[in-house]
This record gives sequence, C-alpha cells and structure tokens, in this order.
Amino acid sequence: MRKPIIAGNWKMYKTFDEAVTFVEQVAENLPTAQKVDAVICATSLFVPTLTAIAQDSELAIGAQTMHYENEGAFTGEVSPAQLASVGVDYVVLGHSERREYYNETDEAVNKKVAAALAHDIVPIICCGETLQERETQQTATKVTTQITKALEGFTAQQVAHFVIAYEPIWAIGTGKTATAEQANEVCGIIRHVIADMYDETTANAVRIQYGGSVKSENIDELLAKEHIDGALVGGASLEPQSFLALVEAGARVND
Ligand code: PGA
Repeated sequence: MRKPIIAGNWKMYKTFDEAVTFVEQVAENLPTAQKVDAVICATSLFVPTLTAIAQDSELAIGAQTMHYENEGAFTGEVSPAQLASVGVDYVVLGHSERREYYNETDEAVNKKVAAALAHDIVPIICCGETLQERETQQTATKVTTQITKALEGFTAQQVAHFVIAYEPIWAIGTGKTATAEQANEVCGIIRHVIADMYDETTANAVRIQYGGSVKSENIDELLAKEHIDGALVGGASLEPQSFLALVEAGARVND
C-alpha cells in the first residue's frame, strides 16, 4: 500500500511573514504522518526558517528547484548541498514552468535527480503534456520520454523512493482539472514505464501524484483512482485551511 503524499507548490507567492504564519498554523494541525505525507515547497529563501518551525511536526519542507552542481560560479542559483545543509526533505524537479521559462531540459532534470539522491533529498519529478500534445495524441510519448530520461542511470532501489508528479500543462493554474480517468490513465502509463525500465515491484512502490487545479472539491475522486497516490498543488495550497483539507483527504485514502 502506497502512502499518499500531498505537496503544496507555493511558486513565487508569499512574503516571509505569511509563510511563517502558514507553517505555524498547519504544522500544528496535520494528520499523522503514518497516513499521509504533507510537504510545503517554498522559495529556497525561506526554507531554513520553515524547516526549523516544522522540525518537530509532521510537515516536511521542500524546495521548488535547484542546480545539479554542489557549488560553483552560477549566479543566483541554489545548490543541492546548500539545500541539504538547511534541512530540505524534498525538491520539485522539472516543473513545467521551470522547463518553459528557465530552459530546464530532461538532461538537466536527470542530473538534478542524481544530485538530490546524493544529498538524501527526495525528488518530486514532474512531467506532463501541453494541450496541443494531448489533442494530437502525443501524451503517452511525451510523458514516457520525460520519465525515461529523468530515471536514466538509477537503481530500482533508488527509484522506488522517488515521487513523480503528472501535471498536464493545460490543467495548471487554469481551473481545468484533468478528469480522474484521464489523470489515472497517464499515471498508469508512468507506472508501466517504470515496470519496463525496472520491475513490477519498483513500479508499485513509486508514488505518483497528479497536479493541475487540484482542490478540495476534486481531490477525493482523484485519490480514489488506482494509480494516483497524491497531489502536487499550487493555488489551493496557499491557504492553511485549504491545504489542510487536501492533506486530510490524503489521510482518508487508506482508512
Ligand atoms: P495549480 O498548480 O494547482 O495551481 O494548478 C499546480 C502546479 O503547478 O504544481
């Protein structure tokens, strides 16, 4: 049985005080981590403070991106070693906004996954198709390529601990959620790709999230599907009550 994982992706939202208040409120009120993993991915700038506040709670703190080098002349970047040194648990890699605006390629994602592993940071590896790709029946090919490249070179044991997020680009921030059937179908394809690359046991161990306009009104239906093990949530993760409702939905799945 896979444990659901609900991760909030705050993107470039929230000031320092807003982030602190949120984490203080949420950290106190989470369901047990035996039932669900709850993660907030904030700007790297706030991570040291947020990890300190969340330290004795069930809330994990993640980053939204990182470089693959540990150090070097990369102005403005944040390294995996730096993130690990302030207690980061997760890092989102290959988000479609990073791919589109900051030229994050599949090769870079693959290097970043290796860097995350080297520092015991769990990668949340994003993949997903554009509307045009969906309409021209290229969804399976796109997602298969992204996942195959991201996972290249890792052992089954390592991959079993990764988190993958299927996020159709047309559903992100648009209010247009994929239907639970559409989301489950693609998450199933991803699991199949992992079974082909490794084996069934590994494929059954990997947690696959759906992301794209997830909210309390649609999360139960999504999580009820066989291949959907959680959600990566943007807009609906910004308010404590809304995020907590999503985590509680995750906690109910295996009740
Ligand atoms: P959304 O964002 O929930 O606002 O659609 C999801 C994401 O980008 O991870």
